[in-house]
Amino acid sequence: MTAAARRRFAFVDWTLRPDRDDDAPPTTYAFRCLTLTEDDTECAAMSPASEDPTEPQTWVFDHMREHPEHTGYAELIERPWVMWPGRPS
Ligand SMILES: [Zn+2]
Repeated sequence: MTAAARRRFAFVDWTLRPDRDDDAPPTTYAFRCLTLTEDDTECAAMSPASEDPTEPQTWVFDHMREHPEHTGYAELIERPWVMWPGRPS
């Protein structure tokens, strides 16, 4: 990076905002099993990520059919954000 570029960068204000552009990555949803197994480690089985929030919930029911004692889950939501040059408008 040149000195001029460094100087310019120092004067730019950045805003962090959710990325709602048409070409932004999609928001995705997934579920992870939090149930502790016999050796006290998390099961950690995870559903595939989906753009449909209800799809991973179906995975939870399938997982519990296989492991009836696994009743604790976390929902993982991945939402794209972007750094934008400039102050918030
Ligand atoms: Zn599990």
